[in-house]
Amino acid sequence: MTKVYELQEVSKTYRNDGKEFEALKNVSLDVNEGEIFGIIGMSGAGKSTLVRTLNRLEEVTSGHVLFYDKDLASLNARELRKVRHSISMIFQSFNLLNQRTVIENVEQPLRIAGVPRRERRAKAREMLKVVGLEEKEKVFPARLSGGQKQRVAIARALAADPKVLLCDEATSALDPKITGEILDLLKTINAERKLTIVIITHEMAVVEKICDRVAIIDNGELAEIGDVKEVFSDPKSNAAKKLVFPSNPFAPSSEEGTLIRIVFDGTKSSEPFIANLVEKTGLKVNILSANTRSVGGIGYGQMVLELPSDLSEQEKIISFFVEGGLSVSEVERND
Ligand code: ADP
Repeated sequence: MTKVYELQEVSKTYRNDGKEFEALKNVSLDVNEGEIFGIIGMSGAGKSTLVRTLNRLEEVTSGHVLFYDKDLASLNARELRKVRHSISMIFQSFNLLNQRTVIENVEQPLRIAGVPRRERRAKAREMLKVVGLEEKEKVFPARLSGGQKQRVAIARALAADPKVLLCDEATSALDPKITGEILDLLKTINAERKLTIVIITHEMAVVEKICDRVAIIDNGELAEIGDVKEVFSDPKSNAAKKLVFPSNPFAPSSEEGTLIRIVFDGTKSSEPFIANLVEKTGLKVNILSANTRSVGGIGYGQMVLELPSDLSEQEKIISFFVEGGLSVSEVERND
């Protein structure tokens, strides 16, 4: 597998007015060619800082960012310009030039690269077709919807024939339906053009819908990394659990009863399990929260249950779930 990026113990400390702030702490991860890689975390976790190290918009304080085995920090200005040409980026705020038409915006990276007018116009038209906006080439950005503006930004990003596309909260300003359409477009581009995509987001739904692998960033640190299905169906770190299973809206009925989390996949529905439990064992559990989601077309779900205080009853209930092939783990009260 070819690595597009290899981050080796990347740290970033911001220094302002004599104050220091560690925004990234020893982050090591790889991005593989052809994958859609998600980076998710709460606001302030360090995601933007991280993505900006990927094209050296941000210099790292220590560690290395290798792009196709080359340390970005070792490049001189000319080499860096060349490498940046193969790393495109799209943003939450689209960053279009408002005084230029749609097609002029798409042509912009080609103009900077010195591509002759006729050639860049043809390329820009081709890219507008890819994003479904060939009808809008003479329109100014102010006349476009948010989703259309992001399509123009994607066409512009593709015009340079990049090796990788970095997306910094690219759908965060869009409503869910338009977000879905933009993500579908990115997925198609990834599949058809074999373009590696790195997506920074605070939204689980974005990662679930299109990412192959995900890294969870928490407080500047890499909390967890893996296949989306694995991380989201059975999160190991506290940061991942917090993201995947947001705080429980139901309070437990007593202070001391044991809480468990059961995780099941799309082949098993949660409801018969609970009904069968009562039927087979005569024991009841208190459902504190239930949550199902679809990851890559397969349904996953989890429930937090409060067990009766009797230990032998607890054992019976847990064995029932385990024998049914569910993953069962104990939940801390203040998770
Ligand atoms: P995220 O994208 O996950 O919201 P950021 O990478 O933007 O997080 O920011 C991570 C932390 O670094 C935040 O606490 C932010 O205030 C701080 N930070 C970001 N940029 C700077 C800067 N230029 N100077 C000082 N602190 C910064």
